[in-house]
Amino acid sequence: MPTTDLKAQIAGLVKLQGLDSEIYTLGNEKNTKPQEIKEIEAAFELKKQGLVELEKKSLDLQKQRKEKELELATNAEGIKKLSGQLFSLKTNKEFQAMQQQIADAKADGSVIEEKILISFEESDKIKAQIEAENLKLKNDEKEFLQQKKTVELRVKEIEDRLNQLQAQRKQIIPEIDPKMLAAYEKILHSRGGLAIVTVKDNSCGGCHMLVPPQVINLIQMYERIVTCEVCNRILYIQE
Ligand SMILES: [Zn+2]
Repeated sequence: MPTTDLKAQIAGLVKLQGLDSEIYTLGNEKNTKPQEIKEIEAAFELKKQGLVELEKKSLDLQKQRKEKELELATNAEGIKKLSGQLFSLKTNKEFQAMQQQIADAKADGSVIEEKILISFEESDKIKAQIEAENLKLKNDEKEFLQQKKTVELRVKEIEDRLNQLQAQRKQIIPEIDPKMLAAYEKILHSRGGLAIVTVKDNSCGGCHMLVPPQVINLIQMYERIVTCEVCNRILYIQE
């Protein structure tokens, strides 16, 4: 049964406020968690980019090398063809010109071979970098999963505590007059989770504005609910 004694009613609201303050704080903390997880995930995705780039570089090198190898095969084919024609030539001049052509083609071939060799060396370097990056990423992933788990555990902890607080709230609520509870909850939701505050050193514990002496007298008379003229929160005096 709700008691009609205002002093007891206010004491009930103060108890309720104790729970609601924690409910609000925890609710706000919980609301930040999905974003926190998103940020942790984004940071890990960013770390993967290095590997993606290295793998692309490795593929590009392989592609370029294939082209060079084809070029080298064409070059070798050309030399073979020229060499076959060499002894069918009639004049010494023609023979020398053809020999020069073959020597030039061979020099071109050497340049291509050199490029292929360098490409292999670069590929080996990148392969080593990829291996190192993979190892680093494994550690990053462990760290990422750990961070994510910590946040998830905290969310679970908050949820458990919120359930406890809601259960305690349910026990207090029947003691409070429904009209008073409705007024309290309206203020609670419009004033960031703080509905009832003490008057301390003649000022409101919610907005810190001065509470006039006649208002303090009114509070002490316990005849009706008194609210702050500035922030509209319910005022009480701690005895
Ligand atoms: Zn106030």
